[in-house]
Amino acid sequence: MKPLIVANWKMNPQTYKEAEDVFAGIKKGVEGASAEVVICPPFTWLTDFSHKNESPISFGAQNVFYEDKGAYTGEISPQMLKSSNVDYVIIGHSERRKYFNETDEIINKKIKKALEAGLKIIFCIGETAEERDAGKKNEILERQIKQGLSGIVNLENVNIAYEPVWAIGTGNNCSVEQTKEAIDFIRKFVPENTWVLYGGSVKAENSVSYIKEAGANGLLVGGASLKPDEFIKIVKSVE
Ligand code: PEP
Repeated sequence: MKPLIVANWKMNPQTYKEAEDVFAGIKKGVEGASAEVVICPPFTWLTDFSHKNESPISFGAQNVFYEDKGAYTGEISPQMLKSSNVDYVIIGHSERRKYFNETDEIINKKIKKALEAGLKIIFCIGETAEERDAGKKNEILERQIKQGLSGIVNLENVNIAYEPVWAIGTGNNCSVEQTKEAIDFIRKFVPENTWVLYGGSVKAENSVSYIKEAGANGLLVGGASLKPDEFIKIVKSVE
């Protein structure tokens, strides 16, 4: 199976023109790549790109709501994504847990609804620096996995992304040994064929070691995914 490389653009870039340029650069550079590439732009650009898409690149949303339709101003349902050529959705990102108060329970509801609609999930888990320092990393990971996936029997469309919060957007990436240890721990709670990705300050210079040495099945890339040259190098490095 191909490694899965997911680009999380977060709330970037600021204009449609810039977004088009980043996408065009990535599209050109990853042509013929053997990794599966998923781009997750903000909603404003997502469906425009996904409707026009003629490349093997797949698209993902950065968020979704847990109801099918109705009076939920500002929200987007899993079916809306599915019917817009969007195949993936990131759920449980630490920024959503932190700034939007998403609890394990909310995350679980979102994962269930998104699976029902046929979306593939990038389910993010990870400990903060304080939790790691307090020796609580494994406890946190276990809680996030068990509560986030509670009641879900078929994990075929669930990919887990181990994203230590202290490594996201800091340049302070997790070492290969720390990543391997966490990934091996996560694998105890999911079927053998569930994919586990790594995310947190991934760059072209460290990307391959997470796959080849730490045993990740793919990468979730934030900041570096907005720089087409860097992102293309990451995609090519894991082939
Ligand atoms: C992310 O937002 O999921 C992420 C991993 O960001 P960065 O690569 O910038 O650390």
